[in-house]
Amino acid sequence: MTEEAFDVMVVGSCMTVLVSQAPRLPKAGETIHGHKFFIGFGGKGANQCIQAARLGAKTAMVCKVGKDFFGDNYIQNFKDNSVYTGFVEQASNAATGAASIIVNDAGENAIVIVAGANMLLCSEDLQKALPAIKRTKVLVCQLEISPQMSLMALRMAKENNVKTIFNPAPAFPDIDPDFFKVSDVFCCNETEAELLTGSSVTNVEEAHGAAQELLKRGCTSVVITLGPQGCVVHQAQQSAPKHVPTAAVPAVDTTGAGDSFIGALAFYMTHYPTLPLEEMAQRANQVAAVSVQAIGTQTSFPFKQDLPAALF
Ligand code: ADP
Repeated sequence: MTEEAFDVMVVGSCMTVLVSQAPRLPKAGETIHGHKFFIGFGGKGANQCIQAARLGAKTAMVCKVGKDFFGDNYIQNFKDNSVYTGFVEQASNAATGAASIIVNDAGENAIVIVAGANMLLCSEDLQKALPAIKRTKVLVCQLEISPQMSLMALRMAKENNVKTIFNPAPAFPDIDPDFFKVSDVFCCNETEAELLTGSSVTNVEEAHGAAQELLKRGCTSVVITLGPQGCVVHQAQQSAPKHVPTAAVPAVDTTGAGDSFIGALAFYMTHYPTLPLEEMAQRANQVAAVSVQAIGTQTSFPFKQDLPAALF
């Protein structure tokens, strides 16, 4: 067991992303030739952890991968990004989570996600990490592992006065209401806000309404990301939500933008805890804007040295 104290701990998912580019999507039973193949690292949990680490946060990932080539490779990826891997377990009875993606020349895709070992992350794994969870500054969770495990991790953090960020993604409408009670920052995108509130969230005004509705459910603050329009922030002590705009940039690949935003937010909460949440969100907007200007997910996430000094 490590005696280190981390800035950011993420309890969440790892996915190996296998991308084949082909002229068109194959029909059932058909074999076609593609023209490009690449392997990427993904999974919302791992993405958020790696973005926080690249900005300079001392991070640890709590997750489960398979005892296979992809699992070994993912652990090396964490090490390459200075993420502590003492809580990355390798299951021998499930494969590392994988997303197989086929993209056609028109940019359309077909995706199969197999969560695999992610769904085996269990309470024993969380108990092993508990001494470190007690000492971390921020704990971050999403919904790509068993929701009960995310809730348990968030509860462990709250019981120990550790700040939490909860990203309800992928969202489903009937999430346990306790998720709100254990979230200091409840951070989601427009689609997730829409699913959770049952109301349309397509612009700043509707996001204000959704933020008010989500805050009522018991979290301390709500952040709804709005793509090129930045985000909306609402806090329990505020009378109204605030729009935090950003300078829209031409996006080449927005995959993982939300994860870059959340990883950055976690970094700012640990390194600049006295900044107002709107200021942290404004800086996280700028980090995420860099990520949409390059192809790929983790490959597009900026390092501290790639960013303006004013962000630090
Ligand atoms: P998700 O990836 O979950 O769909 P969003 O699309 O809301 O999340 O993007 C997350 C954040 O990324 C936004 O809040 C914003 O800060 C940034 N962002 C996304 N697209 C752009 C863009 N075209 N220009 C500038 N910032 C962007």
